[in-house]
Amino acid sequence: MEMERRIHHPRLSSVLTALGAVWAAVAAVLFLSAHRMEPLVVGEGVTSIRRLSEWHTPLAGTPGDTDVYVLDSGVEGAKVLITFGTHPNEVASHVAGTLMVENAVCREGMLMVIVHTNASGFTHGDPQEAYPTRFEIERPDGTRRWFRFGSRYTNPVHQWPDPTLHINPAGQVLAGIDSRNLNRCYPGRPHGFLTEQVAWAVCELIRQEDVDLFIDIHEAAPEYPTVNVMIAHERAMELASEALIDLEMGIPGFEINLEPSPLNLRGLTHREVGDSTDAMAVLMETANPSQGRLKGRTTEEQVVEGRDSAYTQAYQHQIEIQARGTGDEASRRILWALPYDSASGTYPLRFRVARHLAGIESLLNALTYHTDRGIAVEGIPDHGDLITQGIGAFLAPPPED
Ligand SMILES: [Zn+2]
Repeated sequence: MEMERRIHHPRLSSVLTALGAVWAAVAAVLFLSAHRMEPLVVGEGVTSIRRLSEWHTPLAGTPGDTDVYVLDSGVEGAKVLITFGTHPNEVASHVAGTLMVENAVCREGMLMVIVHTNASGFTHGDPQEAYPTRFEIERPDGTRRWFRFGSRYTNPVHQWPDPTLHINPAGQVLAGIDSRNLNRCYPGRPHGFLTEQVAWAVCELIRQEDVDLFIDIHEAAPEYPTVNVMIAHERAMELASEALIDLEMGIPGFEINLEPSPLNLRGLTHREVGDSTDAMAVLMETANPSQGRLKGRTTEEQVVEGRDSAYTQAYQHQIEIQARGTGDEASRRILWALPYDSASGTYPLRFRVARHLAGIESLLNALTYHTDRGIAVEGIPDHGDLITQGIGAFLAPPPED
């Protein structure tokens, strides 16, 4: 009897089927919307938009191809390439790249900017991290711009299956998933995995265009020792030291470390671009709590305001340990990056973006003083202005959908 009653409910089952269909349709729309790229407004300084596949034609028409914004002054000088969005969950990177494309104007030499260097990584998220797929930044007039929160890895829909172990192009043996981690795939392989081909194309661009300086922009968890840092290839060390002095003397309270690119960690830009091209290579990192292992739920507020109760607690705990401890204990660290806003124990996005842009400007200035090939770039949002006025003040109005 019980069974019969369940079976004979034609109205209920058709309602459930209809609800299921609606649910599936909504889920499909949400899923497919992840492939929509965040809007970017091309600024007056951009003289042409090229595609990365121009330097490695097999990339054309693949999800690995991406825009290369060229800001050419028309005046002889240095050539600089900056890559943002290598890891699309390191959001300060592609937000800083967007500000460069929308605001910077080159007056001497040539600047090339890639905002979404691993374009495929922007089309999905990291499973089990429950990251938001996007976040918004408000402009002073109340309008809002949205940005993608993507994955550290190339979308498996675009590159699959992962090998058991990845022997990367530099010969290092890594976990299979690192075959989809762009910053483990340098200097790339022309016939390799999609991610390796993207790395190859970046290196080809640098070689064919005679790029003098290459800068790669990243973030890392606050508890990770390599954070708040410039990592320089040995040929870029002198340049980076000058930039660091310029930064620390020019901006009150600014602290940043300089580290040499390790010789035994292979596949990363600062090592492989330096070794396989003539460019000087520097990588910069800021601290991002939404990437960390101590974080709580990743909300849009955590992404933009950099506020997380677990990190605030860890910071307070560290201060207590250091205050009452002696010797080794006094120097014990939970977080390597101290919060940028120490009063609130937070890592706001505007501080992180401001640090990256200030670092870029100092490296460009150092290149001009340090070498006989200079570059002059105007319009990069100022460090202090970004912190006081916010990122929205430097973003163009949202384009029509
Ligand atoms: Zn990174």
